[in-house]
Amino acid sequence: MVPRVNRELCVGCGKCLEVCPSDAIDTSQGYARINEEFCEECGVCSAFCTYRAIEIEFPLRGNHLD
Ligand code: SF4
Ligand code: SF4
Repeated sequence: MVPRVNRELCVGCGKCLEVCPSDAIDTSQGYARINEEFCEECGVCSAFCTYRAIEIEFPLRGNHLD
């Protein structure tokens, strides 16, 4: 599943954009948006978001958040 951004928690810091291997994230609107077409569902963005603003329904490919 493609992760979901919680806009109430996202501060638009751009960290997720930096770490996304697929260039699937855009923060030009002040919050992260994930392009589902490019996302390969690796979960890296969620793991690196210190604001816990990127939610995934369940661990993907063995990546875990804590
Ligand atoms: S790392 Fe988290 S807080 Fe920063 S832009 Fe991405 S989703 Fe938002
Ligand atoms: S799950 Fe992976 S590919 Fe998809 S937006 Fe996050 S870092 Fe990018």
